[in-house]
Amino acid sequence: MKFSAQREFDLLNKIGFVRTSGSYEEKKAAEILLEEVKSIGLIGEIEPFKVDYYEIKKAKFEVLEPYYMEYTVTGYGMSGNTPKEGLECEFEYVENADMVNLINAKDKIVLINSGFGVKNYENLIKAGVKGFISFSGTVIDDESKTDLEDRKLRDKHLEHGKIPGLTLRAKDAMEIIKNIPTKVRMTLEQIEGECDSHNIIATIKGSMYENEEIHFVAHYDSVPFSNGVYDNGAGSVIIMELLRYYHENTPKRTLKFIWFGSEERGLLGSKYYTTTHEEEIKNVGLAINVDMAGPILGTNKAFVTADNSLCNMVEYMSKEIGFPISVVQDVYSSDSTPYADKGVPAISFARFGANGGAPGHNRYDLIEHLSAENICKLTEFIHVFSERTVNACVFPVPREIPQNMIDAVDKYLMKDKKKENK
Ligand SMILES: [Zn+2]
Repeated sequence: MKFSAQREFDLLNKIGFVRTSGSYEEKKAAEILLEEVKSIGLIGEIEPFKVDYYEIKKAKFEVLEPYYMEYTVTGYGMSGNTPKEGLECEFEYVENADMVNLINAKDKIVLINSGFGVKNYENLIKAGVKGFISFSGTVIDDESKTDLEDRKLRDKHLEHGKIPGLTLRAKDAMEIIKNIPTKVRMTLEQIEGECDSHNIIATIKGSMYENEEIHFVAHYDSVPFSNGVYDNGAGSVIIMELLRYYHENTPKRTLKFIWFGSEERGLLGSKYYTTTHEEEIKNVGLAINVDMAGPILGTNKAFVTADNSLCNMVEYMSKEIGFPISVVQDVYSSDSTPYADKGVPAISFARFGANGGAPGHNRYDLIEHLSAENICKLTEFIHVFSERTVNACVFPVPREIPQNMIDAVDKYLMKDKKKENK
């Protein structure tokens, strides 16, 4: 069988619409992928799991003193509600919310810099802040060409407590600080609950080592406002093409192909899968993840969350075949990480946009920045790589994660080891 760039691009076009965690559109994309699996001649399964659901009913931010102005905002999902009439407080800009920034923040509404982490959020709670506002974009954004982000708090934040939050544009944030507001009001009303997201699974039984498994995985959800072709429709179609190949060419080891939902909300699909299939995960010798591919202007990359010898293998192959790809031993912020966390060696393949080459996580994740040929070339390389494990006489990858990677995974997942040992 020949890998087909056109077939990959056609499927990419079919799933190239906004498909956020738990949405109707994400389900629709899941069904398209399942249909494709069936058209290849396999059964395929769809596995639902629960994710947070929220619907923002009202989000409003007003500066009350020393001037009056209302600014356009979005509400932070899962951050709760203000009283119906809004929360009226003094205002403070707390930058990154380190403890020194927060000396005078008690009982106030604070503006915090974009990209704050869980630790900074925890600091807000400890400081007794009443509500927070962050910002998205840059101070030079053209409003007609950019979107005000739609954000949510994750479980890791909520472990520390819940305070209502809003997002405004960076240029408005700067204007507000210039005008030194003293009193502000925020209003947030939302419905919070749960809904279903889905993983799609296809299995090909191995002819010789049925109990040894290799997983090919990719997430198929997108962030808000993004068609998610680069991130990660491209990875989704790459593993579909590999499924097609291995359906025609029976592998020695059992293969699972899994399209994960809700990766963009914190790797939720892969975390769900790896914790609810623990017996099966014990048999998995390698997880091969593909996340982000296709940019015309770009560069290929592999992240190895496994023994360093796997880095060497990919590097040698790159030289042997003449396919340029840089390899690092590291954690990749994707579905490979929950596998590594369960002790499964993992490798992620990607083609990243060169600087300025392929925007992601916004409305400019567009198929016109990608090429079918680049997607297909990466597919072919992953295929050659996978052959050496799928059909190896002796499985070449040590079934253990080296200590430096265990530490890196724990750090990425913000694991509190002391708590876990209790
Ligand atoms: Zn991604």
